[in-house]
Amino acid sequence: MERLCRDCNMPLFGRSDKKFCNDACRSNFNNKLKKHDPNYIRRINTILKKNRHIMMHLNPDGKKKVLKADLSHMGFDFKHHTHVLDTAKGTRYYFCYEYGYLLIKQEEILLVKNESLING
Ligand SMILES: [Zn+2]
Repeated sequence: MERLCRDCNMPLFGRSDKKFCNDACRSNFNNKLKKHDPNYIRRINTILKKNRHIMMHLNPDGKKKVLKADLSHMGFDFKHHTHVLDTAKGTRYYFCYEYGYLLIKQEEILLVKNESLING
């Protein structure tokens, strides 16, 4: 069966899991997809708001240690955040709006609220 590039529809050669001729076709296809998806921004916003809501729920007092699994079970998406904060100590906090987290161990997370509460 002939396989075609998902972007330019040219026949593909080589690996059977190949979907595009090359990186140019791949990124072209992905860009078109984003542009034509009116829900793209809404979808990301929904993820960010859900992340914020989960952290707000688990961290009502502004600072709390939790397990990473607790967040995962509630549907937290670790790929999305609004911004990061790098401290002088070299640790990186990930924020969704005013709520943030820091990975302290493999499976442990420190939840924080507001950048101002983080000291160095
Ligand atoms: Zn192509």
